[in-house]
Amino acid sequence: MSQVTYIGLGSNLGDSQSIMAEAFYKLASLGAVKASKLYHSPPMGPQDQPHYHNAVVQLVTDLAPLDLLDQLQNFEQESGRVRLRHWGERTLDLDLLLYAQEQIQNERLTVPHVGVLERDFVLLPLLDLDPHLQINGLNLQDTNVVKQSNLTVLVDESWVNI
Ligand code: ATP
Ligand code: CA
Ligand code: CA
Repeated sequence: MSQVTYIGLGSNLGDSQSIMAEAFYKLASLGAVKASKLYHSPPMGPQDQPHYHNAVVQLVTDLAPLDLLDQLQNFEQESGRVRLRHWGERTLDLDLLLYAQEQIQNERLTVPHVGVLERDFVLLPLLDLDPHLQINGLNLQDTNVVKQSNLTVLVDESWVNI
């Protein structure tokens, strides 16, 4: 059965906008997709790395959660991602933020993704896709992280149509 899922995209190495657009088209092979705006945000963790490009994609897919994670990790590898250090620079990061209303906790997967409620570069793009979105009964629009954010928009939704 088709499920509504949300994937967080991040990149701060290489031609980030092209890498993320390519990831969007790969995600489109897994189901129906819709993109948020494209944002620019300062790094989490080590500060001696470039700013990130961030976006979220809504994907409606038949894949089970772990099969979807396998696909996301394949796409990261295909972008040439190398693990350098925790929260370090990467060509492509694909996080499974939400999978329908499911709560998942196992060795490979925690859903909703940890930190989703603390990260403005995830919450603002989620709200682009659904202004009324809730997580665990919490209205994302009402969170302080959203209200206090000064995240920069780089490109409107057209970043995937060029
Ligand atoms: P963060 O998870 O805090 O955003 P990160 O994205 O840099 O940090 P990674 O190195 O990309 O972390 O991933 C580490 C592991 O997280 C992966 O091997 C994966 O199994 C696990 N993981 C757990 N939950 C999720 C999820 N919801 N989406 C993607 N990976 C997840
Ligand atoms: Ca991440
Ligand atoms: Ca990740």
